[in-house]
Amino acid sequence: MLKGKTALVTGSTSGIGLGIAKALAAQGANIVMNGFGDVEGPKAEIAALGVKVAYHGADMSKPTEIEAMVAFAAEQFGRIDILVNNAGIQHVARIENFPVDRWDAIIAINMSSAFHATRAALPAMQAAGWGRIINVASVHGLVASAEKSAYVTAKHGVIGLTKVTALENATTGITCNAICPGWVLTPLVQKQVDAKAAALGISNDEAKNQLLGEKEPSLQFTTPEELGALAVFFCSPAGNNVRGVAWNMDGGWVAQ
Ligand code: NAD
Repeated sequence: MLKGKTALVTGSTSGIGLGIAKALAAQGANIVMNGFGDVEGPKAEIAALGVKVAYHGADMSKPTEIEAMVAFAAEQFGRIDILVNNAGIQHVARIENFPVDRWDAIIAINMSSAFHATRAALPAMQAAGWGRIINVASVHGLVASAEKSAYVTAKHGVIGLTKVTALENATTGITCNAICPGWVLTPLVQKQVDAKAAALGISNDEAKNQLLGEKEPSLQFTTPEELGALAVFFCSPAGNNVRGVAWNMDGGWVAQ
C-alpha cells in the first residue's frame, strides 16, 4: 500500500518508533531512521522487510540538526511522504524538585522537535499534494499524572500542534493526527518499572502489575506492533479524512 513512499520516523532505533517503522516498511515504505543507541540491529530488521533504509543521527533537541535530517531524507529518497514525530524521553519528579535541564530537554525533544520537523517537511508534502504527519503523543496528552509535569505539558502541546497542522492543511491531501498510547513496555517504561521495584522492594513482575493496575483497566501493555497498525491506518486511503484526532490506544486509561 505504501510502495514508493518514504517515511521518516524519529526515535526509531527502539520501542514504539521501531514498531511503527517496521509496520510502515511492511507496507512497502522506504524508511529514514533516527535515534540513539544501536543502529545496525534495528536497521537490519527494517531492511529485512525488503525496503530501502537510511539513518540520520540528528539530536531532536537541536533544530538545525532536525532541518539537516529532513534535507538528508529528501536527498536520499526525493521527499518525505510520511513524518512520524516519535522521539521522546521521560523524567519523573515533583515540580519543586524537577531539574530545570530535564524540563528543557523534555520540552525540546518531546514537543518542539515535532514543530521543527513538521515545518521542514511540510513544503514538499504541499507541493506533492499528499502527506501524513503522525505525532506520537500519549495518554498524558489528554490527562495528567503526578510527577510528570514536563512530559504532560509537552504531550498536551503536541496534541495542540496536531490540531493546528491538521487545520492548516485541511483542504489538501495532507493529514495530521496523534497517537496516544497508554503503557507500552519499552526501555522508557522499563526504567519506571525498575524505579518502582527498587523503591518498594518488590519484583519486576509485581512492579509491572502495580503500574498497570494504577492506570490501565485492561491490565495489559499496548504493543509497538498494535501502534504500528494504527499508523498504517492513518496512512491508508481510509484515513484520508481523519484530521486532527488524538487517538488513544490505552486499555481504557482515558475512559475512566
Ligand atoms: P524508547 O526509549 O524505547 O525510544 C525512544 C527513542 O527516541 C529512541 O530511539 C531514542 O534513541 C530516541 N531519542 C531519545 N532522545 C533523542 C534525541 N535527543 N534525539 C533523537 N532521538 C532521541 O521509548 P518509547 O517508549 O518507544 O517512546 C517513544 C515515544 O512514545 C515517546 O515520544 C514517548 O513519549 C511515547 N510514549 C511512550 C509510552 C510508553 O508507555 N512507552 C506511552 C505513551 C507515549
